[in-house]
Amino acid sequence: MSETNWKFIVTESESIIDHQFMYGNRPFTYLGPLHGSDDFYYVMYHPDSRELRLSSCVGSIENAGFEHIPEKCIKCLKEG
Ligand SMILES: [Zn+2]
Repeated sequence: MSETNWKFIVTESESIIDHQFMYGNRPFTYLGPLHGSDDFYYVMYHPDSRELRLSSCVGSIENAGFEHIPEKCIKCLKEG
């Protein structure tokens, strides 16, 4: 993956940082992208269990099973 892709991912995902996504019935917060040595990842965090999940940027966050539901997203609810 190129540096161009990395910049694109950073820019593209900036607006959803701190937003919550449902993975099944578990809410994960999107922390930001991770520049790994082999791949780029979306970093998802489950606060209650302190579980971190890395979702490859090859697919979208939604493709990995994370669903953004504004009514269940604390960030969306705060911002109205
Ligand atoms: Zn949201």
